[in-house]
Amino acid sequence: MKSHYRVVVIGGGIVGSSVLYHLAKFGWTDVALIERAELTCGSTWHAAGGFHALNDDPNIAALQGYTIRLYDEIQRESGVSVGMHMTGGISLAASKQRMEMLKAERSMYETMEIETRLVTPEEIRELCPIVDVAGLQGGLYDAHEGYMDPHGTTHAYVGAAKQRGAEVVLRNRVVELRQLPDSRWSVVTEKGTVTADHVVNAAGLWARKVGNMAGVNLPVTPMQHHYLITEDVPELVALDREIVSITDLEGFTYLQPERKGVLLGIYERDPRHWKVEGADWDFGMDLLPPDIDRILPELSIGFERFPALQNVGIRRWVNGAFTFTPDGNPLVGPVPGKKNYWVACGCMGGFSQGGAIGLTLAQWMINGDPGADIFGMDVARYGAFAAEDSYLKDTTRQFYARRFVISYPNEELPAGRPLKVSPCYDTLKAEGAVYGCTWGMETPQFFAPGQTNFVEQPTVRRSNAHDFVAAEVRATREAAGMFESAVYARYQVSGPGASQWLDRLLAARLPRVGRVRLAPMLSPNGKLMGDLTVSRLGEDRFWLIGSYYLQAWHMRWFDDHLPRTGVTMRNLSDAWMGFAMSGPASREIVSRLTDRDMSNSAFPFLACAEIPVAGTDALVARLSLTGELGYEINVPVSHQRSLYDALKTAGKDLGLRSIGNRALDSLRLEKSYGVWNSEFTQSCTPGMSNLAHHVAFHKGGFIGRDAALREREAGASRMLVTLLIDATEADASGFEPVKSSGKLVGCVTSGAYGHYVKQSLALAYVDRDVATVAPELTVDVIGETRAARILAEPAYDPKGLRLRS
Ligand SMILES: Cc1cc2nc3c(=O)[nH]c(=O)nc-3n(C[C@H](O)[C@H](O)[C@H](O)COP(=O)(O)OP(=O)(O)OC[C@H]3O[C@@H](n4cnc5c(N)ncnc54)[C@H](O)[C@@H]3O)c2cc1C
Repeated sequence: MKSHYRVVVIGGGIVGSSVLYHLAKFGWTDVALIERAELTCGSTWHAAGGFHALNDDPNIAALQGYTIRLYDEIQRESGVSVGMHMTGGISLAASKQRMEMLKAERSMYETMEIETRLVTPEEIRELCPIVDVAGLQGGLYDAHEGYMDPHGTTHAYVGAAKQRGAEVVLRNRVVELRQLPDSRWSVVTEKGTVTADHVVNAAGLWARKVGNMAGVNLPVTPMQHHYLITEDVPELVALDREIVSITDLEGFTYLQPERKGVLLGIYERDPRHWKVEGADWDFGMDLLPPDIDRILPELSIGFERFPALQNVGIRRWVNGAFTFTPDGNPLVGPVPGKKNYWVACGCMGGFSQGGAIGLTLAQWMINGDPGADIFGMDVARYGAFAAEDSYLKDTTRQFYARRFVISYPNEELPAGRPLKVSPCYDTLKAEGAVYGCTWGMETPQFFAPGQTNFVEQPTVRRSNAHDFVAAEVRATREAAGMFESAVYARYQVSGPGASQWLDRLLAARLPRVGRVRLAPMLSPNGKLMGDLTVSRLGEDRFWLIGSYYLQAWHMRWFDDHLPRTGVTMRNLSDAWMGFAMSGPASREIVSRLTDRDMSNSAFPFLACAEIPVAGTDALVARLSLTGELGYEINVPVSHQRSLYDALKTAGKDLGLRSIGNRALDSLRLEKSYGVWNSEFTQSCTPGMSNLAHHVAFHKGGFIGRDAALREREAGASRMLVTLLIDATEADASGFEPVKSSGKLVGCVTSGAYGHYVKQSLALAYVDRDVATVAPELTVDVIGETRAARILAEPAYDPKGLRLRS
């Protein structure tokens, strides 16, 4: 062990080994992996080693594909066999709803260029003769599934890394981490202390404890997981080939070949945590006692689905632990607020995702950018609330128990809720609000007036909330709609250096005092880092408004770029709230609550000011996401409830109605407005996303300018368009393929029924030539091909007159 390394990776499981390999591969060879005991001695050694490329998040699916393709390379480089068995795999559908879901998924995978196919019960039996196909509707086949040797794969990564100069130190626990004044880390180990420019927490079952060493509480916890391995199965002994792997979604089990027997794994509906705080330091390569009574219900379904297992002995029971996060995705990247402290943990699918995590982290450390939109696994997608034990336990338990359960796009799951609520929560509930949740904050989805216990049926089609949403949209277009803006993030930037700093951070020209502007924020490679609204309240005082759930992610970016002096940044997201009021009656409503002249000439579109509203100092900005005349009214949280009462009273005779996120989606799609995480993501550019006209190419240097200029010259390869879809019962919801003459030309980013224009609408990225020629297109909505065409202009008020009225 040397006294200093550029990077110390803590943990020699599949994930830490992949991080080490990728760092060395990309040229950082002064790196060491420090392992408490032996390689694989956490979760990795007893993993079933199954892998698959399929994932609901296309970016993660692409990265899983990368992981699988990488195995040949590390095997070749290291000379160590990874024991790959590419058997192919089938997800079974034992209900009509599941089959419909698999059909929709097949279309979605098409947009990710992952080839899957639907198979009949007969084909399933052909590919896996031990499946009892009774009651099966069919399945989804993916050729890129299989299983591998966990030990060999880990050693292949490490072997290849060592050949490139990386070092591995075994039987040496990291006992303490201390940050030095120059941001490097002092890594105290059992065998001495080393310094490192960066540390990576890849400590798997111990990740939470290694987080604590740096003062970080990570939302990750171990949970128990069972599988069994059978003796030889005569039907398989008689077979001259391997069966495919099977996931019985309705049965909560998965099965893969294991020599001439099988491995049957269980995702039980009554799961158990184990060592929520992280495993004990002296935990060895041990198994937990099997808890067969608890898993019996799922096991029984498994033995019915695979009857051959009833006639063979069980060679081995495995009850091991591996880690879960609230949404089941890993935690990757630099931890907000901790310089040079990186995580690569919380990974429940090391053999599908390990390569991707290593690739992402190494690129991020070396190039300052993860190389793809990996928000779905970015550690900054969570805030501190997610690591609280009760929230963490509730949400991870929910994820585990629902691992194979159908998730519907309109479904709001209950775990960990309500956690954060606005002062109006009970009042809006009494008004009929049906809540969803964003980053722990309750937010109304729609209102069922007069009904406090309305239950929306989970569905991929238009739901029983359709008419409520229609009424909210109509009220907003014809009178006024009021949206509780608790799910906005608000930041105040002030100080003598504020304007200079923001001018460099944001790609737009800064607004004049008293004005608001939409400002794209770019990374150095010209990709979007935000779509913020900037209000200028004074020469040196600004407000930025963004998405509530991006707070930790944005704050990390702001902190990384903040100068040492001259600029103060305050995150006001939990201190201020308010309402977004829009619709033709909104001026009259707001005017009734303030002495300020709110006429169009005195307070025009994109004006902002601090003015008294209903007896409190509010920050009011004139803009809306609905396309109507509108005002965003922000007040301190303590005044949000009284503001609500005042607005409600003022709007009573003017048709004011509370509205939720669903109505907002319908309204914005009628106006072709994009939002973050659908149309605007880290993989999009201003040129693609119709944001280029907000970019001030001619102002001085701003982050991402060179790349944005290059794109402007070359033109974007894909364009954001609005589609009118010939759909009747269901609307697009995102990731559906867009085709021209059967050829894939794009992908839907979001869709909804435009209640006011009475059309099924979607926003989609399509190839540039398609966007210009605008041919007849199709979109697969829940797997059914529907005719679609590109709208030349927004479906509602294309000239934007109402917004400016
Ligand atoms: C029963 C079971 C079946 C599974 N089946 C599959 C499957 O089929 N497919 C799949 O993809 N995944 C499967 N998994 C999950 C898989 O095991 C994990 O995704 C993977 O092992 C996570 O690897 P890791 O490197 O993050 O963590 P770990 O394997 O836990 O490695 C962490 C390492 O860090 C070391 N460490 C911790 N603290 C310190 C310290 N302070 N100093 C030095 N070293 C330290 C530990 O000793 C350990 O070696 C399964 C898991 C279980 C339990």
